[in-house]
Amino acid sequence: MKIKKVGIVGWRGMVGQVLMERMQAENDFTLAEYTLFSASETGRAASAQAQIYGRDFGPIADANDLGALKKMDVIITCQGGDYTKQYYPILKREGWSGYWIDAASTLRMEKEATIILDPVNMPVIKKALHAGEKTFVGGNCTVSLMLMGIQGLFQADLIEWISTMTYQAASGAGAKNMEELVAQYGYVGQGLQAKSALELEKKVTGLISSPQLPHANFGHALAYNLLPWIDSEYEMGQSREEWKGFAETNKILQTKTSIPVDGTCARVSVLRCHSQGLTIKLKKNVPLSEIEGLLRDANPWVKFVPNKKELTLSELTPAALSGSLSVGVGRVRKMRIGDEYLNIFTLGDQLLWGAAEPLRRMLRILFE
Ligand code: NAP
Repeated sequence: MKIKKVGIVGWRGMVGQVLMERMQAENDFTLAEYTLFSASETGRAASAQAQIYGRDFGPIADANDLGALKKMDVIITCQGGDYTKQYYPILKREGWSGYWIDAASTLRMEKEATIILDPVNMPVIKKALHAGEKTFVGGNCTVSLMLMGIQGLFQADLIEWISTMTYQAASGAGAKNMEELVAQYGYVGQGLQAKSALELEKKVTGLISSPQLPHANFGHALAYNLLPWIDSEYEMGQSREEWKGFAETNKILQTKTSIPVDGTCARVSVLRCHSQGLTIKLKKNVPLSEIEGLLRDANPWVKFVPNKKELTLSELTPAALSGSLSVGVGRVRKMRIGDEYLNIFTLGDQLLWGAAEPLRRMLRILFE
């Protein structure tokens, strides 16, 4: 199938904006005719926001217009799960036979969907394409970043189980949530004065509990706070975000025997970049130098940071890696629990490898 028309739905959102930036940087817009779809910007003759991507995309199409959607050979959507739930089944039912590339989790565990992270699972993607599959879905952001970071250990079949403790950025919940975090800091900081550090703490703690604090999106204060629950409640006391760690890791890798992955996912007051502390039980005792080599050489995006204080604090932080395709891997050491237990801290820009980049690369794979 020759791909001529590509529709992008959700380009105004957090993932969508990063996708657009990356497509522009990689010259992807020259490969086909693109239509931008929006539910709220409909009909405008290429809004000011669209024009910043340096092209005339024509009028913004209505993301609810089935007829316009059906004309596309490929639909890339970063609009969210509700949109996928509403339009994917109708398009399929009405015989649309294009490729669907999606950032939302809705379809990830469906049989017809392949979770895409090509540096890690290119053979799985190729197999799906050869089988005529048309549905390709980006993985959960923390899962994709973990797989990119410790790919070397998976490839060497060294992992018995993983415990993941995550520190996830506000933008992982979308544009409005990220704006809300900044607004919360603004609300607390306005005219704030105190005679001592203790008084300052009391005032701030009072302000983040105030009903006037902007909290419509998170439902709670994230500024000066931490929220140890992400997504809905799942089974066995897990959050859905925590469940994805196990389910998606094993689907992406198509493991024969499932690798247990579990832990606690927390939202922290970082704007961009998800971090995670991993405890890994190895299948055998392997020298640290060998482990470091496997991690370092697994893919070109691993930024290995030696386990030294100054290097870690300057290079292994959201501030250092926001906006970068590098996936930081550091704090690598054996644990006192035993020689087969490994401590690793890994982080990366969840809007890039955790969301937009696998989608953009999937489109490239289709062209190639
Ligand atoms: P988002 O920022 O909330 O954007 C989704 C849509 O919200 C936009 O396309 C836009 O649609 C509308 N919108 C309303 N108010 C907006 C505002 N103030 N600024 C920008 N857009 C606004 O969602 P997202 O974080 O990009 O996530 C999209 C999908 O990707 C979700 O399914 C999410 O689970 C998944 N995902 C997200 C991340 C992440 O790090 N954020 C990572 C992996 C996967 P209209 O143009 O139609 O108004």
